[in-house]
Amino acid sequence: MATEKVTKKIESRIPEGPVAEKWTNYKAHQRLVNPKNKLKLDVIVVGTGLAGASAAASLGEMGFNVLNFCIQDSPRRAHSIAAQGGINAAKNYQNDGDSVYRLFYDTVKGGDYRAREANVYRLAEVSNNIIDQCVAQGVPFAREYGGMLANRSFGGAQVSRTFYAKGQTGQQLLLGAYSSLSAQVQAGKVKLFTRYEMEDVVIVDGRARGIIAKNLVTGKLERFSANAVVIATGGYGNAYFLSTNAMGCNCTAAIQCYRKGAYMANPAYVQIHPTCIPVHGDKQSKLTLMSESLRNDGRIWVPKKLEDAKKLQEGTLQGWEIPEEDRDYYLERRYPAFGNLVPRDVASRAAKERCDKGFGVNNTGLAVFLDFSESINRLGLDAMKQRYGNLFDMYEEITDVYPGDLANEINGVKYYKPMMIYPAIHYTMGGVWVDYELQTSIPGLFAIGECNFSDHGANRLGASALMQGLADGYFVLPYTIQNYLADQAIWPRISTDLPEFAAAEKAVDDELSRLLNIKGKRSVDSIHKELGHIMWEYVGMGRTAEGLQEGIKKMKELQKEFDTNLFVPGSKEGLNVELDKAIHLRDFFTMGELVAHDALSRNESCGGHFREEYQTEEGEAKRDDKNYFYVGCWEYQGADKDPELIKEPLEYEAIKVQTRNYKN
Ligand SMILES: Cc1cc2nc3c(=O)[nH]c(=O)nc-3n(C[C@H](O)[C@H](O)[C@H](O)COP(=O)(O)OP(=O)(O)OC[C@H]3O[C@@H](n4cnc5c(N)ncnc54)[C@H](O)[C@@H]3O)c2cc1C
Repeated sequence: MATEKVTKKIESRIPEGPVAEKWTNYKAHQRLVNPKNKLKLDVIVVGTGLAGASAAASLGEMGFNVLNFCIQDSPRRAHSIAAQGGINAAKNYQNDGDSVYRLFYDTVKGGDYRAREANVYRLAEVSNNIIDQCVAQGVPFAREYGGMLANRSFGGAQVSRTFYAKGQTGQQLLLGAYSSLSAQVQAGKVKLFTRYEMEDVVIVDGRARGIIAKNLVTGKLERFSANAVVIATGGYGNAYFLSTNAMGCNCTAAIQCYRKGAYMANPAYVQIHPTCIPVHGDKQSKLTLMSESLRNDGRIWVPKKLEDAKKLQEGTLQGWEIPEEDRDYYLERRYPAFGNLVPRDVASRAAKERCDKGFGVNNTGLAVFLDFSESINRLGLDAMKQRYGNLFDMYEEITDVYPGDLANEINGVKYYKPMMIYPAIHYTMGGVWVDYELQTSIPGLFAIGECNFSDHGANRLGASALMQGLADGYFVLPYTIQNYLADQAIWPRISTDLPEFAAAEKAVDDELSRLLNIKGKRSVDSIHKELGHIMWEYVGMGRTAEGLQEGIKKMKELQKEFDTNLFVPGSKEGLNVELDKAIHLRDFFTMGELVAHDALSRNESCGGHFREEYQTEEGEAKRDDKNYFYVGCWEYQGADKDPELIKEPLEYEAIKVQTRNYKN
């Protein structure tokens, strides 16, 4: 019954075939922003990362009144600023055979055939516009000597289609989006609310009509109404405590929308990135990514001999003392066609496999080498610095090892100090369910960027998150939202005095009081860290039915501890960072359980979701297309009840669904 409900809704919104010809409603646009009509339509955009800032700027430019919220003191501090390696587009500047179709195909295949075909095609189509838009904004993409924009390769592709600005692509793109946003602020079309956190979405007559936001400086709750609400609030990787995400990343807005009826889709699809600086102690609160772009020139290896690995772990041997013939470049060995540039899920599992077998290279045995010796010998250190200078510096600052330092010479071959890397939680492919127009299952509520589930299936390819966030923000949402707003033009502005607003505000206020009044003994971070351990151990890289059940049980027990033994100092008034963190942690619990439920229900392995029971003899993910070729949408049933699964069947027309192959 429930399944039919979603299927119908989706069919009515998705155009036929993979080519998205009907996704812009120009008539509606003319009606809405024609200055003669003097329409005043308000849109709330929550988030100022690449998705939120680009959407707010575009909507402002198109004539809407935008209220734009973020938790940081400036939009420029959104997590997107951390993005390092680049952004994909099918420009084919390298003339290496790239095309819209090829980007579409690589993305669907990279996602292990679990993404919606039509969405991905649209993404590939608009990818080129994003580069033009950003160049027009002045984003300083790297260029070739002759002036053309440069490209490099990312995992899962055999062409060079990634545009980049050193290892700071996210920062430069965000500055571009921010300048467009600022122009709209200046023009009076966007009103910015920095240091505001959305605590709830307000539903009136079944539609999203506003939000309750907390002023993080004064502590005051405030009500905001609009004709539509867009959330662009990022991913939920921090449910695992240790991740490459910014410390402020949280899923509170998404989970509140879920509690109000928005489906959460494919939460089990969590990306574990292969090239992060390994965990080095129990006092750590953050992990650092070493961009995937490094795999263009860095080669990943562990020793061939177990005795060498043992010595490395004991510290009696160094990586640069091991000669070429005793190194196992295991990705090149296992996947000759893609080598070090296999997709992230494949590279992460291969690293874990080597370490599990005892070949890990650091004192914990949980690291592999990423080595630039061959590239430095061939191209020189300066070339490496030009491409990855800031990443080499960042690595040195954290580990005190500079990857370009000459360390040894064996038989005339120079060896430089390698990086040590290990997989870590990085990105969440799952998120709020949206239809083809990026509308959630709550009318009037839209979700864009990392916080929705839309385009990456079970595994995201590198440099595709920025592409998706900016596609959503600059080119998709500004049009599709008008199909909704076209009918809203006749509605008077919604008053925030409505009982629905009062009730939502009271519920948030009560919840803040509840958390403050627990007055237990444990800090938010100590419980969050424990949740992270549970998530990593039972819902992490290798999952089993038994482990997932155990994980859910442990999460429930820990949540009881949270509800009865939490200590939040201070009060509701004024700045209270601990209180804000407590709210985030409350929602990480809900999210964590959703991830586990989804993983338990999906009796197959695909992309970032690896169930150990379902693997090939070679340890590759084994899909079950007969039974699991669907988007798993979870519907909230109440605080003490398990969520209900609703299935959105996937339909592929342009691409033949097959087993992924990166070997030949
Ligand atoms: C280290 C690192 C490197 C990366 N490198 C790349 C790369 O090279 N290429 C690539 O394609 N991708 C990369 N990614 C992924 C990519 O950066 C993110 O997926 C993307 O930036 C997410 O953008 P977003 O706009 O959806 O969300 P975010 O950038 O996370 O922004 C979320 C926004 O929502 C706001 N917010 C959140 N909750 C609330 C709330 N309750 N109320 C109000 N505001 C709220 C925040 O203030 C913020 O403004 C990288 C990720 C990491 C961690």
